Amino acid sequence: MKTVVILGAPGSGKGTAAARLVNLLNLKHVSTGDLLRAAARDASTPAAKAVAETMRKGELVSDEIVGALVVEAWQQADGQYDYLLLDGYPRNEKQAAFLESELARHGAKVEKAVWLEVPEDVLIGRLSGRRTCPACGAGFHVETMKPKKDGICDQCGHALVQREDDHPENVANRLKVYKAKTASLLGWYEQKGVLVQISGVGDADEIAKSVAEVLAR
Ligand code: AMP
Repeated sequence: MKTVVILGAPGSGKGTAAARLVNLLNLKHVSTGDLLRAAARDASTPAAKAVAETMRKGELVSDEIVGALVVEAWQQADGQYDYLLLDGYPRNEKQAAFLESELARHGAKVEKAVWLEVPEDVLIGRLSGRRTCPACGAGFHVETMKPKKDGICDQCGHALVQREDDHPENVANRLKVYKAKTASLLGWYEQKGVLVQISGVGDADEIAKSVAEVLAR
């Protein structure tokens, strides 16, 4: 199983591309945001409540918590898929170093890091118009990816919501956190010779196809 990562700012379309890639390749999509949202949903313990509050503000959850989730997901997928696609991880250089050392223990490494490049004004428009299904995780947009029935998930019929971290004040903070902590990973993976840049603007199916081609190369 090849481990690959998809990089890009919040709103760059990592989750959208990943959701399509599972139809193009024998690929397991692991989104740390989705895993953490699931964990925070039944925020019954103080630790889960703290995770939910950190996410609400768009700050980063502790490296230890997220690292443990990723290791578990990797172990579950190993042997069953051709690719494990990490979406939302790593988010800083400490996480990238942890991932590298965990994979090295299995004689593996990050094979490709695909960067979805999107201008900031496009990112802000996407994030503030984004609507999400809290039941199945499907994503929509009030202008560019409308559900068939207003406010209702096409896939499972649940009412759509605006994620709290997509509210304008939290969007600004998430972009700030991305620039301060995550953007340097582009240089990290470029140095390792595995970074591939793809434009994240345009038709979602075409973008997913380009990513699939890069991964299969
Ligand atoms: P995302 O769905 O990838 O935008 O992630 C939503 C939120 O989950 C982020 O704003 C963080 O609070 C948290 N999160 C997701 N991935 C990570 C990570 N690798 N490290 C720390 N926090 C994360």
